[in-house]
Amino acid sequence: MVSTGSTSGGDSTSGGDSTSGGGSTSGGGRDAGRPSTLLTNIGELVTNDPAADDLLGAIHGAALVLEGGRVAWVGPAAAAPAADEVVDLGGRAVLPGFVDSHSHLVFAGDRAAEFAARMAGESYAAGGIRTTVAATRAATDEQLTSQVGRLVAEMRRQGTTTVEIKSGYGLTVRGEARSLAVARQFTDETTFLGAHVVPDGTSPEEYVALVTGAMLDAAAPYARWIDVFCEKGAFDGDQARAVLEAGAARGLRGRLHANQLGPGPGVRLAAELGLTAVDHCTYLEDADVDALRDSGTIATLLPGVEFSTKQPYPDARRLLDAGVRVALASDCNPGSCFTSSLPLCIALAVREMGMTPAEAVHAATATGAQALDRDDVGVLVPGKRADLMVLDAPSHVHLAYRPGVPLVAGVWVGGRPL
Ligand SMILES: [Zn+2]
Repeated sequence: MVSTGSTSGGDSTSGGDSTSGGGSTSGGGRDAGRPSTLLTNIGELVTNDPAADDLLGAIHGAALVLEGGRVAWVGPAAAAPAADEVVDLGGRAVLPGFVDSHSHLVFAGDRAAEFAARMAGESYAAGGIRTTVAATRAATDEQLTSQVGRLVAEMRRQGTTTVEIKSGYGLTVRGEARSLAVARQFTDETTFLGAHVVPDGTSPEEYVALVTGAMLDAAAPYARWIDVFCEKGAFDGDQARAVLEAGAARGLRGRLHANQLGPGPGVRLAAELGLTAVDHCTYLEDADVDALRDSGTIATLLPGVEFSTKQPYPDARRLLDAGVRVALASDCNPGSCFTSSLPLCIALAVREMGMTPAEAVHAATATGAQALDRDDVGVLVPGKRADLMVLDAPSHVHLAYRPGVPLVAGVWVGGRPL
């Protein structure tokens, strides 16, 4: 189970801290009876320790002790304490599990034909979402749950140990609440995205009133976050503000899809409202970059989308050089980007967006966690969750250096190997 699984046995509370405000003290599934485990002979251990001199807090020739679902010790292998179990990793690299802060996994159907048409020259527009809405409404709860479970397992095999999942393909009171209830079975990082697109047969004004009224009432018990697709063809800045403010009044934290298909008001709105993160950020004016820097709002870049829609990539280098925090996420969804692979996103960010391998790995782990207001994941230092991956490679660089190669050789969630 990625991050917060309800079916992972004794670890069912893992990551559940998120619902109590992102704190790091309540979850973790501590189990005093569980043995400690020493992972040793680690070629490179990426800790993301903010106190380290280098971005990744890398330790070479390292070891790590896991106990009670948490990291108990990190340091040079030669200085490692004894533990109940010892796992020799043969010089492989160990990284924090990826934190995928943006996905749309609750859907039915696929849009392979639309992708093929796009690759044959058609352009991407926001309206394709309606195709998935029709298929999702027609699916049973069991079909949706099965689909999410399959995709979460697929993510996990590629190193993702925490995932955010949005609604947004129901677009009715019942449909949105149902989607969030399904997502909640797999993660506490659930996001109400009723404002994904205006469904056929209603006006934008009527629909925003529904999203901020009865639909919000039904969705709020299952959601931690609220999101709006703020884009031409979806929702404008005033509508996005209304939805985010209504969500905030119900205790939901705001996030935003913005500036994906062209310039717009979304990024500056996110900064003005002090949102934790604003996602896409492909078309930015200087004032947008300044607003992100000044607000501290994280720019979450989703390069799988540009890959899959043949759009220009966002300029990560410009953001980083301006002092903006950058996260990477998958945006896994059936229309604009049907990849669940953060290794692919890292490779694209390095090859196409001006990020170094270290910056890209940090963006998909530590900053991804920050984009969910989480301080218990994305970092491997004592006290944090023991969510990590083992690469069949000596360093993090291989994630970009060997694109498309399944390098994730092992994944541990809450101190247990999957
Ligand atoms: Zn999205």
